[in-house]
Amino acid sequence: MAGKTCNILVTGANRGLGLEIIKQLAEKPCPGRRIFAGCRDPSKAEGLEKLSKKHSGVIHIIRLDVGDNASVLEAAKQVSSIVGGDGLNLLVNNAAMMYYSNMKESVPSEMENTFNVNVMGPMRMTKEFLPLLQMAVKKSSESSMSCRRAAVINISGMMGCIEQVPATYGLFPFVGLPYRVSKAALNMMTVCNAEEFKGDGILFTLLHPGWVRTDMGGPDGKIEAAESVSGMLGVIEKLTEEHNGAFLNYKGQPMSW
Ligand code: NDP
Repeated sequence: MAGKTCNILVTGANRGLGLEIIKQLAEKPCPGRRIFAGCRDPSKAEGLEKLSKKHSGVIHIIRLDVGDNASVLEAAKQVSSIVGGDGLNLLVNNAAMMYYSNMKESVPSEMENTFNVNVMGPMRMTKEFLPLLQMAVKKSSESSMSCRRAAVINISGMMGCIEQVPATYGLFPFVGLPYRVSKAALNMMTVCNAEEFKGDGILFTLLHPGWVRTDMGGPDGKIEAAESVSGMLGVIEKLTEEHNGAFLNYKGQPMSW
C-alpha cells in the first residue's frame, strides 16, 4: 500500500491489532492517505490519540460502535464528508469480542451479543460503507481488484475453522463457543459477499492474524501484534481477484474452512 493514495478505515482501532494496524499504516509514506480509526470511546483511547497527534491530518479518529446501527450510520456520514468523491478504498473489519464460555456455561444472550458485534458488525459496516467503496472503484485508475481500488478485509481466525475443531478444541478450551460460531458465520458471510460484489469490483478477503499477544489472544500468544500486522499488511497489499473470497493467514498461506 506504500506509494499510493488511499482511504482506509479500521474498526476496533483503540487497542490490540487495530491500533497496531493504524500505527504501521501511518508510518508508511503515502501522500494524501487518510486513515480512519474507528473506536467506541475516543475519550479513553489515549494510545490512538497520541498517534493521531503524531500523524496529524492523516489519522482521523471516528466514534464507532459496530454493534449499533445509529453509530455505524453516523460514522459513514462523517467519513463521507471527509473523503468526498474519492470514496473508501479499504475497510478492515477488525473489531470483535469474545466470551470465555462453552455450551454448558454459555447463555443465549452471549451468542446474541457476540453475533451483534462479530457478524452483524461487519455486515452493518459493509452495507453502510458500500456507496463509498463503489465510489472508490469508479475513481480508481486500476482496472482489477486490489486494496488500492476497493477491498473489505474481514479479520476472522482459526477458531472459526470447522475442519480444525477436533485439533483446536482441546488446545484452546478458553475460546468461547459463541466466538467460534461467530467467526464461522463471518467466513460464510464474506464468501457470499465476494460473490455478490464481484461485479462491483470490490474484493472481499478473510485474514487470520495468527495467535497474537493482545487482550483477546492473551499472554501465551505466539507472536506480537507488530509481527502479525506487518504480515497482514504485506498480504493485503498483494491481494488480487484471485483472492476474492479467500481465507489466508498473516503469512499469506491459505487457511482451511
Ligand atoms: P482485542 O480484544 O485486543 O481488541 C478488540 C478490539 O475490538 C478493541 O479495540 C475493542 O474496543 C473493539 N471492539 C469490541 N467490540 C466493539 C464494538 N461493538 N464496536 C467497536 N469496537 C469494538 O482483540 P485483538 O486485537 O486481538 O483482535 C482483533 C481481531 O483479530 C478480532 O477480530 C479477533 O477476533 C481477531 N483474532 C485475534 C486473535 C489473537 O490471537 N489476538 C486470533 C485470531 C483472530 P473496546 O476497547 O471499546 O472494547
